[in-house]
Amino acid sequence: MNGGGGKQRRIQQALFMNGHTSNILESMVGVGDMVLLDPLTEEACINNLKRRFYAEDIYTYIGQVVVSVNPYKKVPLFSPSTIQTYRGRNLYELPPHIYAIADDAYRSMRDRNRDQCVIITGESGAGKTEASKIVMQYVAAVCGKGEEVDRVKEQLLQSNPVLEAFGNAKTLRNDNSSRFGKYMDIEFDFKGDPIGGVITNYLLEKSRVVRQTEGERNFHIFYQLLQGAPQSLLNKLRLSSTCEKYGYLNQSHCVAVDTIDDAAHFQVTENAMRVIGFTETEITQVFEVVAAVLKLGNTEFESFISFNGTEACNLTNEHTIEEVCKMIQCDPEQLKQALTNRTMDICITGLAERVVSTLSSGQAVYARDALCKAMYSRLFSWLVGRINDSIKVRSRGKKKVMGVLDIYGFEVFEKDNNFEQFVINYCNEKLQQIFIELTLKEEQDEYVQEGIEWTHIDYFNNSIICQLIEKKNTGILAILDEECLIGGNASDQSFLNKLNEVCIRHEHYESRKKKSCRSDKTLPYDCFRLRHYAGSVTYSVQGFLDKNNDLLFRGLSQTMFGCDHQLVKKLFPDGNPRRQTKKRPPTAGTQFKNSVAELMKNLLAKNPNYIRCIKPNDVKSPNMFDDSVVRHQVRYLGLMENVRVRRAGYAYRQPYDQCLQRYKMLCPTTWPNWRGHPKEGLQTLLTHLRVKPAEYAKGRTKLFIRNPRTLFDLEERRRDK
Ligand code: ADP
Ligand code: MG
Repeated sequence: MNGGGGKQRRIQQALFMNGHTSNILESMVGVGDMVLLDPLTEEACINNLKRRFYAEDIYTYIGQVVVSVNPYKKVPLFSPSTIQTYRGRNLYELPPHIYAIADDAYRSMRDRNRDQCVIITGESGAGKTEASKIVMQYVAAVCGKGEEVDRVKEQLLQSNPVLEAFGNAKTLRNDNSSRFGKYMDIEFDFKGDPIGGVITNYLLEKSRVVRQTEGERNFHIFYQLLQGAPQSLLNKLRLSSTCEKYGYLNQSHCVAVDTIDDAAHFQVTENAMRVIGFTETEITQVFEVVAAVLKLGNTEFESFISFNGTEACNLTNEHTIEEVCKMIQCDPEQLKQALTNRTMDICITGLAERVVSTLSSGQAVYARDALCKAMYSRLFSWLVGRINDSIKVRSRGKKKVMGVLDIYGFEVFEKDNNFEQFVINYCNEKLQQIFIELTLKEEQDEYVQEGIEWTHIDYFNNSIICQLIEKKNTGILAILDEECLIGGNASDQSFLNKLNEVCIRHEHYESRKKKSCRSDKTLPYDCFRLRHYAGSVTYSVQGFLDKNNDLLFRGLSQTMFGCDHQLVKKLFPDGNPRRQTKKRPPTAGTQFKNSVAELMKNLLAKNPNYIRCIKPNDVKSPNMFDDSVVRHQVRYLGLMENVRVRRAGYAYRQPYDQCLQRYKMLCPTTWPNWRGHPKEGLQTLLTHLRVKPAEYAKGRTKLFIRNPRTLFDLEERRRDK
């Protein structure tokens, strides 16, 4: 690759540039830091990204934030030698890169004992997951060596293919779309060598197991297994290698995908499981669960009217059920019973009475799907737990942490935004909160603390929307929980009515009941609309109660717990009759809210590093930069506010002692040692170098430099010494 060598060379050359050339961030296509844009407008910002995208410079800074535009093709920016080039360099010495941010974060963790996190955001297909892998590869490449360290690194890296096989799927936007959120803490010892990690997963999109939009697929593992497993394994699992034979795979008319080699991926997945330390028995058991889900999906029911006049149903393909039962060591009669009937304990006149009612064929399909969704999503959580067991830190000593968050971006569909989009977008509101808190607010607060004169810049603070969703008692999630608790007469519609009662005055809530929206035909009657920071989203309330309740008929969990199959049994502890309590488990919404709160606490305790991912077009093309698609993202990522705050203030800042240490060689009075206060030493140095006083400000503990050029100038002089 010709262009590749050239780019590589440019990165190398940057290191050897001398004072005659201008600085590196200005010498490239467009500007490498948006702070340098002149004039600073949204158009200029988009154009800059565009020029750089076409030149294959996919990374651009806003100060310390990396903006990454998905190239949709291999670009020559990643190689072991490039990693070496970025090692131990300062951010502004080399072209913008995730490596630079990763290096900065890693060193600051290792040398200054500050726990770090890398927060990666952007919409589906923008390149978040790829970015998270680049961060991990960088860290793996630069930190220590040795047998134990290598084992840990390998296991951490191999967790990716396993989680992707079970948690990713082809969607219309992304052929390898993560259908779960992931936060991974990588833990290091005092030397900066990795000793283990912890993965937290968020809300797998389990509805995909039983239904996919036209043109999308189920989770990769199903196709991998059918296409890639040896015939002997397929025989054992009683599976056919033809995907079209399975109801859970054939409804969306998308099986083979050009960009995906399912058979090859099967080997990768299986190998990764071995590297992580799954036993052969565990691996087989995992595939048995996957096969059970596929086969259960093919069971069908036939309705009839029972002797007492109610609807009931029978299984029509008993053979399938029997095969499944053999595999997961389950009593077939009990499973048939659990799929076609429902058992409930009803309290009549103070006495609990067990009532069995028959299910119609539609209800039985619903029960079957619920069982498969539960089996698969619990399997996924079990996998995460199993990986964690392997990568768990065993030593007791003090550890340092670097977290990487790769979580679904803001999601909005033209129609049918549902409970899933609602919680995903809630999570993004919370992440935006952190971004505001840490990047915009903290920046401005720092000036105040350091006693530096400063004019405030306005930005939209979205905490008002977070409140609308999460507030105790009156937030949307609380109202939803309340409806779920009522049971009986509650419905999606009654939930919407409640929302209208409580939220109608909120400026970010809209529905047809609101005066200003009465004639808004784009807002259907069974929907409510939230004005998110990233734009308005219309949510259909259909299915909200059901998804939030997330209940599995008890008969089904009991049957699963009753299996002799070790793994299946483990997945359904709630089916243990001895552990049954009257207390209902927290709803899906509440669980999600709690885990997001936990995540926020975790992130806020660390020093954040940002990667903001942008996709250049909606058609996955490497040759198209669609201005309007990008403009939308630039707006809701708040990039302009970010640049403005950065530029109105001071681009760089450093504590006096560190700053003096770095530049003291540029002045005979401060070299080799300055005995007085570092603040005065720096003043002497800046005067000697004739840096204009307007160019810097002296805070209480730090020197602030207004223009990045001044800093580049200092860097170049230092390099020429
Ligand atoms: P997200 O996680 O944001 O949904 P992904 O990281 O899965 O998006 O990226 C979607 C697709 O875009 C990838 O499968 C890959 O084809 C392409 N892509 C993303 N980042 C890069 C990159 N740095 N280089 C080349 N291709 C990329
Ligand atoms: Mg992803």
